[in-house]
Amino acid sequence: MKFVDDYRDPTRLKIQLAELRKLITRRWVIMDVCGGQTHGLLRHGLEQALEDVLDLVHGPGCPVCVTPAEAIDDAVELAKRPEVIMTSFGDMLRVPGRQGSLLQARARGSDIRIVYSPADAVQLAVKESEMQVVFFAVGFESTAPSTALAVLQARQLGLTNFSLLANHVRVEPAMRAVMQLPENRIQGMLAAGHVCTVTGFAHYSAFVDQFQVPVVVTGFEPMDLLAGLTRCVQLLESGEPQLFNEYSRSVRSEGNKHAQRLIEDVYCVATVPWRGFREIIDGGLVMRPELRDFDARNRFGLAASLLSSDGDCRSGDVMTGRIKPIECPLFGNTCTPDNPVGAPMVSSEGSCSAYYRYARPIEVRT
Ligand code: SF4
Repeated sequence: MKFVDDYRDPTRLKIQLAELRKLITRRWVIMDVCGGQTHGLLRHGLEQALEDVLDLVHGPGCPVCVTPAEAIDDAVELAKRPEVIMTSFGDMLRVPGRQGSLLQARARGSDIRIVYSPADAVQLAVKESEMQVVFFAVGFESTAPSTALAVLQARQLGLTNFSLLANHVRVEPAMRAVMQLPENRIQGMLAAGHVCTVTGFAHYSAFVDQFQVPVVVTGFEPMDLLAGLTRCVQLLESGEPQLFNEYSRSVRSEGNKHAQRLIEDVYCVATVPWRGFREIIDGGLVMRPELRDFDARNRFGLAASLLSSDGDCRSGDVMTGRIKPIECPLFGNTCTPDNPVGAPMVSSEGSCSAYYRYARPIEVRT
């Protein structure tokens, strides 16, 4: 297959779905780790087409959703300062913290701007030399290289008015944390293809050995998702937990060395608080001490956040596969995309928004 249409071809999808259904002898519980995969499964009707034979649950792979409310509070607090221009991606502005969202803070007068890349925030700092420009950074290893590059550019330009409010997290430790939950029932995992493009996937061998579950590196188009599920089911049915790459057009075993070097130059691995867990060992990236001048927490003297509860929002349970979004009592009544109570209903990768938009019986669609 060469073109994106090939990966969405309805005839191919129906044939592949039928092949997959033939393989299944029991209702395996498979977790897709990435929010993009969750949306793909639901948007294209694959989860609905398989719900009678497979239990598909959705993991902690939406970067907006796993960002603790306390991090939003830090951004809202910083944005109150008259000398600060807070910048971030559009999704992050709508995520509620305990003091409301950044969008609400903007309505109250804070200078908060949407940018399309961290490099745009660096350019803004060049232009607004009298102001302190902060980029509110979230995301996994797939986005960390671009924020790392922004810091290195700012250093090269000698900027003293650019800093990062960094909240980067790591996928594999989160998958480990899910597997170690006492009530865990996951039997197979689809690893996030885009993150593996950066990190590679060799490190998942130890994961497979430890937990004895298959891990299949999977992409995002409907045929990619079906290929990942099919391989995962084959490995489960054969009783051979193995690591497999079903996204070889993008992912190499060793990953992208240049991107990995950027991450290592700017961040170090740390144990951090996560939604759904108190904290995850080695689950995050914090800025290196030698770059503290570009760390907004250091520059503005913010205390390290302590995680508190998310109130009635069950996002922690959703992201660890304990419940499906529709089992949250607030789903679709108190909590909707127009009036989100939690981040998974806001984000374009959130499980709750995917269920709200797509979780109804539909034909497989392209
Ligand atoms: S439906 Fe809303 S309140 Fe419930 S878990 Fe999802 S985001 Fe949280």
